Amino acid sequence: MSLEGGCTHVRGVVKVRHAARRECEDCVKMGGAWLHLRTCQTCGGTRCCDSSPNKHASRHAKGSAHPVICSAEPGEHWLYCYPDDSLVEY
Ligand SMILES: [Zn+2]
Ligand SMILES: [Zn+2]
Ligand SMILES: [Zn+2]
Repeated sequence: MSLEGGCTHVRGVVKVRHAARRECEDCVKMGGAWLHLRTCQTCGGTRCCDSSPNKHASRHAKGSAHPVICSAEPGEHWLYCYPDDSLVEY
C-alpha cells in the first residue's frame, strides 16, 4: 500500500479499516439520512460525509480528534485527513 504524498496521519495507517456496517451509526440513532459513508481509521466507526445533512464523519473527527477517514463507498479507495486536508488514493 503506497500512501506517499499523504500527511503523517495518513501515512500512519498501516491497514485500512473498512466499514463493519453500511450505515451511519449516528444517523441511525437519530433517524437521519445520509448520502455517502466514511469510516474512521482510529476507532472504525462509520458515519456520513460532508454532502450529507448531518456531516457526522467530520463532526466526529473534530469532536474526538480522530483525524483520518476512508471512503466506505464501493469502488472508492482513498484516505482523507481532516486537520491536514490531505487526500491519498490507495
Ligand atoms: Zn494529517
Ligand atoms: Zn450521519
Ligand atoms: Zn473515530
